[in-house]
Amino acid sequence: MTMQGQRKLKYAIVGAGMAGILAAIKLKERGEDFTVFEKAAKIGGTWRENRYPGLTCDVPSHAYTYSFEPYAEWRASYATGGEIQTYFEKVVDKYGIGPSIRFNSEVVGLDWDEARHLWTLATADGLREEYDVVIAASGVLHHPRLPEIEGLETFEGPAFHTARWDDTAPIEGARVGLIGSGSTGIQIVTAINKQVERLVHFQRSPQWVMPVPYFTYSEEDREAFRRDPALIDAIRFADEYIGNVRRFTDAITDIDGPKMREIEEVCRVHFEQSIRDPELKEKLRPNYRAACKRLIYSWCYYEEVQHPSVFVETGRIARIEPKGVRMTDGTFHELDTLILATGFQADRFIRPAGVTGGDGVTLDAFWERRPTAHYAVTLPHFPNFFMLNGPTGPVGNFSLIDIAERQWDYVDQLIDLLRSGEASAVAPKPEAHAAYEERRIAAAKKTIFGSGCTSWYLDAEGVPASWPWSYDAFAEAMAKPRLEEYAVIAPVAA
Ligand code: NAP
Repeated sequence: MTMQGQRKLKYAIVGAGMAGILAAIKLKERGEDFTVFEKAAKIGGTWRENRYPGLTCDVPSHAYTYSFEPYAEWRASYATGGEIQTYFEKVVDKYGIGPSIRFNSEVVGLDWDEARHLWTLATADGLREEYDVVIAASGVLHHPRLPEIEGLETFEGPAFHTARWDDTAPIEGARVGLIGSGSTGIQIVTAINKQVERLVHFQRSPQWVMPVPYFTYSEEDREAFRRDPALIDAIRFADEYIGNVRRFTDAITDIDGPKMREIEEVCRVHFEQSIRDPELKEKLRPNYRAACKRLIYSWCYYEEVQHPSVFVETGRIARIEPKGVRMTDGTFHELDTLILATGFQADRFIRPAGVTGGDGVTLDAFWERRPTAHYAVTLPHFPNFFMLNGPTGPVGNFSLIDIAERQWDYVDQLIDLLRSGEASAVAPKPEAHAAYEERRIAAAKKTIFGSGCTSWYLDAEGVPASWPWSYDAFAEAMAKPRLEEYAVIAPVAA
C-alpha cells in the first residue's frame, strides 16, 4: 500500500536479469504495481545466456551478490556461471518475484504519450499496455557480435558464438579453433585445453593478466557462513575487494599515478615470470598498457595456455574454409569445431526495441552519435524512463550488482517526485545533460581505456563509453540526484 496522498504508479521493468530482479524486489517491498517483461523463458540475463566452459565471474563470489542477500553457498573465491544463475533463481523464489514476470515477452516498442504522461509498451507477442514508469534493465552485452570473416558460413563443423553454446559440438578429443581473446576466450582456454586434442587460439590481441588468488570454500566454511552472515560481510567489505575497487578506479583515472604504475608492474612481473617459452612469450606480450582493455583477472591462464595442446596463432585469418581456418601466410588449421569468442555489440542496450520519447525523439536518433545517459541513468526527452547499467556507467572489474543498487537509490529518489504527486514527468534538462556529457567525454579520454588500444569500451568515435571518475565520485553522485538538472513537470490536469 502506498501512503495517503501518494500517487499509485504502474511500472514496467524490461529484463529479468540481475538489475531487473533488483528493481522488482525494491518495488515489491514498497507494495508497488509492476510487471517484469522478459524475452526469454527463464530469468538470469547474462548468466542464463552464457554457459560456456570455464565461465566464472571475475568479481569475488561474496562480493557478487545483492547487498541485502548474502549467500553462504559459494564453493570458491570465484563463482561459476551456473552457481550464479542458481543464486538469482533462489532470490527470485525467496522474494516471490516469479508471478510478476511475463516470460517469452520481448518488449519491441515504447512510446511516450506527451499529453497523458504515460508510456505505451508493446511486446512481440502482441500486448499493448500503459505504464507510468519504465525501468530499462535489459543488460549491456547481450547481442553477440559475429566476426566478419570470409567463408564463416562454409565451415562444415559446428561454429557458434560463446553466448550460444552448442552442447553437441565435439570438444573432447577434438581439434578446436577459438577466435577471440577477451575475458571469454581466455576463460575457455583454461577450461577446455586438457580435453581437446588440439586447441588453436586465434589471438588478434594479447591480454594483460592480473593474478588473483583462487581457493575453495569447504562445507564447514559454508556452514559457518550460514550460521553467521557477518562472516560474509567481513569478506565482502574487506580491503581485498572494496579497497581494490577504489584503487582500480583511482588508477584508471590517474594513469601516470602510483596506483596505475603498481597495477602495470604486477601484471608485468606476472607475465615475465610465468611464460617459459620465449616464442610464446613474444606472442603473449601486449603492446598497450595494462587495464586499457578490460583487465583479465585469472589465477590460471598463463599456466593453462602453456599446455601442449594449445597453439596460440597470432597470424591473420585469411578465410574460413569448410574444414578449417586458412591464414594469410597459407597455413591451414584443420578443425572439428569453431568457437567464436568475438564479443558483443555493446551499444544496443534496450534496442532493437523502438523507443520514442517526447517531441517524437527516438532513442536511435538521440543515440545517433553515441549512447549516453545522464549520470548513466536518465535521458533528456525520455521522461520517467530509467536505465540500470545503461550507457557510460562504470566499467572495470567490479560488481555490476553494486553499481545497479546505487543506481536504484538514485532512480528511487526521482520516482519519489512522481509518487508524491509533485510531478508526473521527470527527465534531465537537455542542456544539463549536454554539459555533463561534455565533462564526461573530456575525462573519459584521459582514462586508461583511452590510452591506445581497441576494446568494446570505446564508442564509434573511440571515446571510452564509461564512467570516467572514481568509485567514490560515482557513489556520491548516485546518493542524491541534482534536482536542479531535471525538468520536473507538474501533473497534467485530469
Ligand atoms: P571482447 O572482450 O569484446 O573480446 C572479443 C575478442 O574477439 C577480442 O580478443 C577481439 O580481438 C576478438 N575478435 C573480434 N573480432 C575478431 C575478428 N574478426 N578476428 C579475430 N579476432 C576478433 O568479448 P568477450 O571476451 O566476450 O568479453 C566481453 C566482456 O564480457 C568482458 O570484457 C567482460 O566485461 C564481460 N565478461 C566478463 C567475464 C567475467 O569474468 N566477469 C567473463 C566473460 C566476459 P581484439 O581485442 O583485437 O579486438
